[in-house]
Amino acid sequence: MNGTVTGTGKNAGPTHPVIVVGSGPTGLLLAGDLAAADVPVLLLERRPHKISNLSRAFGVHARTLEQLDARGLADDLLATGSTITRLRLFRRLSLDLSTLPSRFPFLLITPQYEVERLLERRARDLGVEFLFENEVVGLRQDDNGVDLDVRGPDGTVVTRRAAYVVGADGHRSAVRQAVGQPFPGVSVIKSLLLADVRLAERPESVLTVNGAGDAFAMIASFGDGWYRVMGWNRRHEVPDDAPLDLEEVREVTRRALGTDYGMHDARWLSRFHSDERQAPEYRVGRVFLAGDAAHIHSPAGGQGMNTGLQDAANLSWKLAAVIKGQAPATFLDTYQTERHPVGKAVLRSSGGLVRLARAQNPALRAVRALVTAAVNAARPAQTKALAQISGIGFTYPAPRGAHRLTGTRVPDVELAGGRRLYEALRGGRFVLITPRSLEEPYESRDDREDLPAVEHWASDRRTTVLVRPDGYVAWASDNADTTAIERGLTSRFS
Ligand SMILES: Cc1cc2nc3c(=O)[nH]c(=O)nc-3n(C[C@H](O)[C@H](O)[C@H](O)COP(=O)(O)OP(=O)(O)OC[C@H]3O[C@@H](n4cnc5c(N)ncnc54)[C@H](O)[C@@H]3O)c2cc1C
Repeated sequence: MNGTVTGTGKNAGPTHPVIVVGSGPTGLLLAGDLAAADVPVLLLERRPHKISNLSRAFGVHARTLEQLDARGLADDLLATGSTITRLRLFRRLSLDLSTLPSRFPFLLITPQYEVERLLERRARDLGVEFLFENEVVGLRQDDNGVDLDVRGPDGTVVTRRAAYVVGADGHRSAVRQAVGQPFPGVSVIKSLLLADVRLAERPESVLTVNGAGDAFAMIASFGDGWYRVMGWNRRHEVPDDAPLDLEEVREVTRRALGTDYGMHDARWLSRFHSDERQAPEYRVGRVFLAGDAAHIHSPAGGQGMNTGLQDAANLSWKLAAVIKGQAPATFLDTYQTERHPVGKAVLRSSGGLVRLARAQNPALRAVRALVTAAVNAARPAQTKALAQISGIGFTYPAPRGAHRLTGTRVPDVELAGGRRLYEALRGGRFVLITPRSLEEPYESRDDREDLPAVEHWASDRRTTVLVRPDGYVAWASDNADTTAIERGLTSRFS
């Protein structure tokens, strides 16, 4: 793989097809996908190289595990944590994840650094060029490319040029600020406590959550002897940099859960506040925003890292197709039309959960009781809540008159020959699933390698479905012949 291409812009230096800024989970997945598609990619990270053991996210949802499965990483990640099949919220609300129509009907509890470790290993194996201690401090773009001012370890600033830049540089994103995108929103929780600790007594379940009076606490087991504690005390809201000791975490936990389980040996203690914010535009010319750089939400529902990984999975194959000349640059606008509404929906649902959890006035408590009763009692309400939390329920807009499946997530169906769809997606290509009776539609074409991989249903299903590399339906037909398939193929980048 060639590391650079000759620039066509006003700068004389070499131009990278893509520079990704930030090696958090979002940047790592995206850079790995591009490299897997043979697109040379440079990843800039301002930190020194070290995977932190200070985990932030600890919940990996079903749709994220499906995306990782499509990259051959899900089973390795599963081995690092514990799974839970039931979520209990507000004492009485119970969500049964085991009913999820997914190969992963649960929530995986594992520290964020395990996700990053696997994604970094994959990105390195695929040839991503990493530059640590390289901080983006400025950005300008023109019709042909983007210039990034990058400060290296010795303080010198050099300009690097790319055809496209992805800002996956977290909630304070320098890239977002440089392209002039605001980050409107509000602070939802002013003062949360966080600790990674060991416990003398084991809680009954992998995830224990409760609120009592003015206190709220949650304990999640990572499965390796370490536990994540998150707490909140309405009567003691202080700035993030106020000193914090383990005794304060113990006290909040005792008030909310009745016991602190003999908490000891904190390896991490931190305060943080939680905001809800979203950039209005995820694409500004040749620059894209993904993950926390584009949206941040309350920790309720554990959606931040999961949503960022889905952003990356949505953008990577589109960028690769445009860079390889298979798709027009306008196709990249679908990143905004598909991912911005999802970010907005996640903001709304996670914010709603926090507001209900903190409910003090009688009216809001009554709403909480109603929501709890409705979701517990009605199967459709349970299914909807589960689909949203797990990420499997999100769909993308379909063109007018399109087949009803267009834009929906494809489950991990069985294919002829004993393969699963998410194994077939590991090639990073579209997959065309046809009835077994249909002949190979383009066996003799020279550009076969750039066309979707062809598979057949294991069952006698008649629908032909064109699956995008990110596992959503690009096109479908109930009675496709070769001509219809040809039309479907042409529409896949529109
Ligand atoms: C306490 C807590 C609990 C959470 N729990 C969950 C959970 O259960 N589930 C969940 O899905 N999410 C959770 N989240 C959110 C999750 O941690 C984030 O959403 C996730 O880390 C976002 O990933 P990212 O790659 O977009 O950004 P980040 O992880 O923030 O990575 C951005 C990277 O960019 C680098 N960078 C920044 N500026 C520059 C620059 N100018 N130049 C070069 N590099 C730069 C940074 O050093 C960093 O490495 C939690 C967050 C917190 C704080």
